[in-house]
Amino acid sequence: MKIDTILLKNDVTLSFEVFPPKVTANYESVKEAAYGVAKRKPSYMSVTYGAGGSTGGNTLKLAKGIQEEYGVTTIAHLTCVGATKEGIRQALTQMREAGIENVLALRGDRPKDFEGDPFTEYRYASELVEDIQAFGGMCIGGACYPEGHVESENAQEDILNLKKKVDAGCAYLTTQMFFDNNIFYHFLCRVREAGIGVPVIPGIMPITRPSQLQSAVRLSGCNVPMRFRSIVDCFGKNPEAMQQAGIIYATDQIIDLIANGIKHIHVYSMNKPEVVKGIQESLCKII
Ligand code: FAD
Repeated sequence: MKIDTILLKNDVTLSFEVFPPKVTANYESVKEAAYGVAKRKPSYMSVTYGAGGSTGGNTLKLAKGIQEEYGVTTIAHLTCVGATKEGIRQALTQMREAGIENVLALRGDRPKDFEGDPFTEYRYASELVEDIQAFGGMCIGGACYPEGHVESENAQEDILNLKKKVDAGCAYLTTQMFFDNNIFYHFLCRVREAGIGVPVIPGIMPITRPSQLQSAVRLSGCNVPMRFRSIVDCFGKNPEAMQQAGIIYATDQIIDLIANGIKHIHVYSMNKPEVVKGIQESLCKII
């Protein structure tokens, strides 16, 4: 099923993200974890694409496996950094053949080891969105950044660029993680003021290890409220306590979002079925 059809229904949706292995030798263990998430029957799942296309085949294999084995709709992420138009066309053809009809169109980050200019055929995700739209038959999603993308000059520029991407054919947007819901609410107001009308799905990251928070901050520059920083400082050295506290903090964010009228929420579940279980069980009377 296409994601825009799922989002049109009147139900609250809770979706989960998994990632494929970089090396095929790890495929079976990663598959087991991702299938563990699928067994919990989320509204849909998304499968990431390794930096610079490093997991291309495994992204598709995992997305196809989840749909066929568990009947859970999947989104395959696709990045265009360093890609050619022909390579993208082939990737889309393979998706179509695999029965994948949802794609998250991303630019991706400049790969560390790429020699030369990786942005020759594609500069921005909006160009990828245009090509996927021309290819046809796909529901296209895009990424957005409540605290601004790390490369953008300012928040206003970022929103104007986002509008171009949506106008190129995005049916919905999924946000970068954030740990303070007020940041999302302010962002949503600015998005709507800019005339962007598609669903904006908040992305929530349950932090289960202090190192996860450090890399999240390094990669996205997201703000960590003092309340959450204290939780990580207090429980970070006790893995079980940190996992429980991380699940509860993420669940608290989700409850607040639902209470404020947000119907669709995406969770960066990082191949952790136990985290998915914890969140679902904490919400069982709410969703
Ligand atoms: P774009 O939308 O192209 O934006 C990138 C930058 O260019 C922004 O600063 C934007 O303001 C600017 N820009 C855009 N258009 C223009 C224009 N016309 N003129 C001037 N400036 C412009 N990465 C992966 O490698 N694999 C994944 O699976 C993956 N999944 C992700 C999922 C989500 C929900 C999110 C939020 C991010 C994900 N990323 C993933 C990371 C993403 O690839 C990086 O953040 C990347 O740096 C930007 O990708 P984008 O698609 O947002 O790019």
